[in-house]
Amino acid sequence: MKIIDKQVVSLNNLMVKLKKKKCPPEGILILFPHCLQNTTCKQNIKNDLNECKRCGKCKVKNLMELSEKYGVSIAVASGGRVALEKVKADSVQGVVAIACEKELRVGIMAAIPKAVFAVPNLRPNGYCKDTDVYIDEVEKAIERFMKE
Ligand code: SF4
Repeated sequence: MKIIDKQVVSLNNLMVKLKKKKCPPEGILILFPHCLQNTTCKQNIKNDLNECKRCGKCKVKNLMELSEKYGVSIAVASGGRVALEKVKADSVQGVVAIACEKELRVGIMAAIPKAVFAVPNLRPNGYCKDTDVYIDEVEKAIERFMKE
């Protein structure tokens, strides 16, 4: 199944690139999983992302900075259903989703027809714990959606 997950993610990203969908910044949503937050962090970012003190112990800081740099929305996905509600909001036209390949595959299918650019996370500590992401991949995905 892992191979299928990766293939679906790659194929989806290729389709999004080929379609060249463009959105205004306010129509773009960065969606990231709660497991990206450092486990020692006591800030309740699930409740309010502004609780992040931007200490730099995890990439939540970098994602918040990207959101400000490009003027795009950002949200933490605290569960599949909540994530889907955010993606399905009328204001959202393009999504940059960060997660493991399995969650990305499920999310991409559920979000159809919304354009989702999928960025697989890094899992140096295994699934769902202190995960990581290449910020330059997220930034490239945002730029693909931006109008020239
Ligand atoms: S960057 Fe934000 S979320 Fe990450 S550990 Fe620091 S305060 Fe917590």
